[in-house]
Amino acid sequence: MKNLILLLLLLSTFALSAQTTYLQCGSILDTKTGKLLPEKTIVVNGNKISDIKDGYVGGTASDKIIDLRSKTVMPGFIDMHVHIESESNPKAYLQAYTLNEADIAFNAVGFAQRTLMAGFTTVRDLGGSGVNIAIRDAIANRKIKGPRVFTAGKAIGTTGGHADPTNGYREDLVGDPGPKEGVVNSVDDARKAVRQRYKNGADLIKITATGGVLSVAKNGQNPQFTLEEIKAITETAADYGYHVAAHAHGDDGMQRAVKGGVKTIEHGTLMSEETMRLMKEYDAYLVPTITAGKEVTENAKKEGYFPAVIAKKASEIGPMIQDTFKKAYELGVPIAFGTDAGVFPHGENAREFVYMTEAGMPVIKAIQSATLTNAMLLGMEQSLGQLKKDFLADIIAVDGNPLQDVELLKEVTFVMKDGEIIKN
Ligand SMILES: [Zn+2]
Repeated sequence: MKNLILLLLLLSTFALSAQTTYLQCGSILDTKTGKLLPEKTIVVNGNKISDIKDGYVGGTASDKIIDLRSKTVMPGFIDMHVHIESESNPKAYLQAYTLNEADIAFNAVGFAQRTLMAGFTTVRDLGGSGVNIAIRDAIANRKIKGPRVFTAGKAIGTTGGHADPTNGYREDLVGDPGPKEGVVNSVDDARKAVRQRYKNGADLIKITATGGVLSVAKNGQNPQFTLEEIKAITETAADYGYHVAAHAHGDDGMQRAVKGGVKTIEHGTLMSEETMRLMKEYDAYLVPTITAGKEVTENAKKEGYFPAVIAKKASEIGPMIQDTFKKAYELGVPIAFGTDAGVFPHGENAREFVYMTEAGMPVIKAIQSATLTNAMLLGMEQSLGQLKKDFLADIIAVDGNPLQDVELLKEVTFVMKDGEIIKN
């Protein structure tokens, strides 16, 4: 009996691994050359692309054939700036006190699913309560559906700064947070905070180099770290193989972050031409988050949506982001696609493509930033960002030609992640 069970198990494993999926594609986008290649069949085995063949090819009767002949097929998109744990709403500032970690986790299940269904098969999560690490693992272990997550865990800020989780709350209830919670005030604190994130299982580091819009604090652009603190963070991060992402609206703090060795500048709202040149020199990438800028501008107009101190900053900073992106792109600053999803509803990430092209970037360049560039920044350029033999089978499709109509990217009709069909 025992042997029989073993045999059945072996057979079923064999049957699973033997199943091949053939995706017959109207055209596939070669992200390297920017060209559409007509009539191809992508062969998927397990979680990888095992071959790409000319024309429409099928397998044996036991194999699965998926008809995508009317579609343009692309590698799954990568968003370099999301907050998978949360979503903006008028009660968000109260929820810091009403939601337990379990509530946050259950909410995130839906956010992750929506993100994946929209064709975003990988995301970089730039900070939350720490539940984001468990969400990453639950997705990787196929307990819940969602994009592949690279997470910063908790962001790092300074006292009263943008990532201080206690701003605006009653002192006797919140205490005095330190490096563990993400608040540092010295070079030693900075090193400890990075090591703590390594201990917690983060994949990268996020700092808040300047004030921000959505924190309960007066200034949305002041520098909030010393250059020495930033360097302590990037140097310690490098010891653990981490790159550092820096939230920044104001130019001074942004310059310190670039000189301090961060890899990506998030938002970049008041970036001067000097800083743009510095970014090119240091090979730092701008993650535009235009969608977040548009969303907070709209929400600031709604009575009572934000506390007053935030509404003011949102209506000042929000509308500037798209113009800065335009200037930075024209000046040749490297661009990495990222949206700040969570500041707007998860699953609407593709709005960013529309805003980027509005500002003058060709659709193909926007797609390349969301695939090739982002895969490279995550150290995944050998397995993500292209449709290629031996790459991970993260494959999406839209009806029609997105290079001619960018709006199509908001209507992804097929999603495969890690070889598993999620949406068809
Ligand atoms: Zn953010």
